[in-house]
Amino acid sequence: MTVPATGRVVIAGTGIAGATAAETLRKRGFAGEIVLLGADPAPPYRRPMVSKELLAASFPAEKALLRPATAWPELRIDLRTGVRVEAIDPDAARVALDDGTELGYDALLLATGGRPRTLGVPIPGAFTLRDRHDAVALRDVLARPGVEVAVVGGGLIGTEVAASAQAGGARVTILEAGPRLLDRVFPPPVSAALEQVHRARGVAVHTGVAVTGADTVSGCTRLCSADGREWIADAVVVAVGMTPNDEQARAAGLRVEDGIVVDEFCRTSVPGVYAAGDVARFPDPVHVGHVRVEHWNHAQSHGAAAAAAILGEAAPYREVPWCWTTQYGRTVQAAGRPGAGAELIVDGDPGADAFLALTLAGDRLVGAVAAGRPRELRAARTLIGTGAGLSRALLTGPIDLVSVAAAAA
Ligand code: NAD
Repeated sequence: MTVPATGRVVIAGTGIAGATAAETLRKRGFAGEIVLLGADPAPPYRRPMVSKELLAASFPAEKALLRPATAWPELRIDLRTGVRVEAIDPDAARVALDDGTELGYDALLLATGGRPRTLGVPIPGAFTLRDRHDAVALRDVLARPGVEVAVVGGGLIGTEVAASAQAGGARVTILEAGPRLLDRVFPPPVSAALEQVHRARGVAVHTGVAVTGADTVSGCTRLCSADGREWIADAVVVAVGMTPNDEQARAAGLRVEDGIVVDEFCRTSVPGVYAAGDVARFPDPVHVGHVRVEHWNHAQSHGAAAAAAILGEAAPYREVPWCWTTQYGRTVQAAGRPGAGAELIVDGDPGADAFLALTLAGDRLVGAVAAGRPRELRAARTLIGTGAGLSRALLTGPIDLVSVAAAAA
């Protein structure tokens, strides 16, 4: 155990990584003090709901809470919301908070997540989406009858917001800089099918758009692109990726490279300081090098892994990242690196309720995307993680990936 039994663990960040770490410390029997600090004024809640359920006016915000408010004191977790770590002093093992106080620690976990990237050009009145407060502000606008919304960025937030806004009655336009929607997460046929689903609902999708400026015209926002096109909307949502909140770590001398660099035990370059979740750059379990993964499930398991590491009980972190998106009532899951391989095998229609798309590098599975086939997506995660060579004969015609995984075991 690296932290004394009666010591104090300070966790910065009340997202799923920080909250899971706090709970895991207790569940694993840590009897000392746990201080869970969050800049967000709300107690821990389910962030995936920010770009989906929380945009519906009828959805009660309390339903998004991770645990009832009483759970944290019951677990003897000292949850402090609306307070930010401003500086870290690793030599003194202390953090300075923005309320003017200081706190010593025996172990410090940085689970500070990220913030929305900005476009680089000012967009008057633009919305971004990261926390519950952002969702509540946007949903009031989406509730206006006939509202026209432009969404800049066709990634996970952009397409989810577009689907939620369209379902609520808004007229929606997506402006994506890249050649296709969800380029980072889906292979081309799955992106194309998703784009069709949006278009069929009346969402206008424009790709290859570089927004170069914006102004206000009669109370609306006019967006201008490099090639001279213009769009006018009542509201603009900017969803062009995130920037990790790693500045305090950098200032404290931790190794930071677009995220806080950690090893497979969530240890940073400074003893006693750990990092997990969106902000941490960790050794990729499948490929060479370090990666940052910005998904809920990863943040949850990484937070749990960090807690185990703080207690000196961890196995190396080897989870294959996966995520899901729900749009127009259909859930699509992705695992590994669906865009990383040389070959794509698609079983079924990527626009249908059930399909499976597999990305291969040689005879190894490196990524998978599926709808309506959750057991096979789980099998895909196992196959990606083990790196087992796959028999081609089992990948022709209708595929049963559960059987493929059994054959490869
Ligand atoms: P993203 O990386 O998923 O998508 C950003 C999109 O914006 C990309 O398609 C990119 O090409 C585009 N883009 C970049 N610059 C642009 C520009 N100047 N103009 C127009 N388009 C531009 O990021 P996001 O959608 O902003 O989401 C932020 C974070 O939240 C991500 O880390 C994401 O993984 C996470 N998130 C995950 C889920 C999920 O797992 N279902 C849901 C919501 C958010």
